[in-house]
Amino acid sequence: MAGTLYLVATPIGNLEDITHRALRVLGEVDLIACEDTRRTRVLLDHYGIKTRLVSYHEHNERERARELGERLESGLAVALVSDAGTPGINDPGFRLVSESIARKVRVVPLPGAVAFVSALVASGLPTNQFFFGGFLPARSQARRARLAELRNLDATLIFYEAPHRIAQSLADAREILGERVAVVARELTKMHEEIARGSLSELAQKFSDETKARGEMVLIIDRAEIQSESARVATSEDLLARVAALEGEGLDARAALKRAAREFGLTRSEAYRRLVASRKA
Ligand code: SAM
Repeated sequence: MAGTLYLVATPIGNLEDITHRALRVLGEVDLIACEDTRRTRVLLDHYGIKTRLVSYHEHNERERARELGERLESGLAVALVSDAGTPGINDPGFRLVSESIARKVRVVPLPGAVAFVSALVASGLPTNQFFFGGFLPARSQARRARLAELRNLDATLIFYEAPHRIAQSLADAREILGERVAVVARELTKMHEEIARGSLSELAQKFSDETKARGEMVLIIDRAEIQSESARVATSEDLLARVAALEGEGLDARAALKRAAREFGLTRSEAYRRLVASRKA
């Protein structure tokens, strides 16, 4: 009977971020396939787990996937972990999963930490639709081309980024996407955790200081829609109500419109056009 491949998420920093089920499975399987045996050993030692380790990383993935596939087919239970987070998410895993499926081996995911999910939910940016792009290309020209492809996507954009490239990526994003709200979530779950929010320009400036651009990081960029999101709200009664409220506070019509336009992120003429339209409606 074919064995089982368990895809086990491990912590992205804080060793407590692992499930009871993950610890039980890691202790029970015949073999744990991992990227760096020394790193995984630290985690296993912390929890007193003695299961045998075998390396499975990007340089031996192809042949190891075949070997492990055979062992799985012969009935072994294997857990796959990566250095951090969920295997298969910008980490090796895909080949072993495909190999297992081809050999009719059962594949069982054990959910847990994923850096970009933690970063997204804490970012304060919309979570209803998002695009996870993995690592942006290392070379500026390719990176800018990639960003240009994503310019009009109606989704929050998420990337993994290396500390020595973050300032340049933020600057490229500012140039290609225009000014947007962004977040750099750094060292999540670790001692120096930081969730830096600001405009792309502000963050590019901040992280051009190498002493600040340290550790592991996730870059999150708001969709272009953010201005028009508030503008869309302003088309309805909101703008009208705000202008009326400001007039009630003593501002004349002109000043009230000017202030409301600024608050809703609109030009004065656009606010006036919407105000007239909504008064007519
Ligand atoms: N498999 C991992 C996951 O589930 O998130 C991702 C592995 S990928 C090779 C490593 C990248 O993930 C880092 O360069 C960084 O961009 C991001 N990352 C991992 N741990 C992080 C953390 N604690 N805080 C912020 N970003 C992290």
